[in-house]
Amino acid sequence: MAKLLVATQNRGKVQEYREMLAPLGGIEWLSLWDVGLGEMEVEETGNTFTANATLKAAQYGQRAGLLTLADDSGLVVDALGGAPGVYSARYGAPEVTTEAGRYQLLLKNLDGIPHHQRTARFECVVAIAPVNDAIAHARGTVEGHIALSPRGSNGFGYDPVFLMPDGRTMAELSPEEKHRISHRGRALQAALPILYRLLAQ
Ligand code: IMP
Repeated sequence: MAKLLVATQNRGKVQEYREMLAPLGGIEWLSLWDVGLGEMEVEETGNTFTANATLKAAQYGQRAGLLTLADDSGLVVDALGGAPGVYSARYGAPEVTTEAGRYQLLLKNLDGIPHHQRTARFECVVAIAPVNDAIAHARGTVEGHIALSPRGSNGFGYDPVFLMPDGRTMAELSPEEKHRISHRGRALQAALPILYRLLAQ
């Protein structure tokens, strides 16, 4: 069976990829821990999701010698000029160290801003390496608003404060619902034809 390394150290993302890739036949996917690279750090020095996803796919892929999928993702809030963006995982660091701390900081920074100005989107870029000696990309986004207070216990990261158009937060969706509409689910859907073409070679 063809092997695919899913190169992320974020446990929330590992769980989501596990669920999203489970129904796909013909691919044995491996985590960084499966290939002994769970502790390998790749510095995310890029200013864009694409640049950081590329860095991770290239470096983990080269080290593992496997077809490798990496992603970079984050939350883009219009009223904050696009923050936290590529810094989503490190927002408020070093003082803020937890996921709840990061979304509480976000709510504080949006204090007094009304609903219609709290527009935001999750973005994800998936990078796959190597693809004919290059790196292929696919992108997914989901639009919403930042809630006034957190709700829900599913998902991870900023999910409890990301309001969907139907009034539920992302953390109130079931995993299956989230995968269907999320930035990561959409990026992976867009990446599947690339993956299948490669794995069929
Ligand atoms: P990355 O691992 O550098 O891509 O960082 C992504 C960060 O963006 C995560 O640590 C979360 O804070 C945030 N993020 C990305 N995707 C999601 C999601 O699906 N839900 C909630 N937060 C997310």
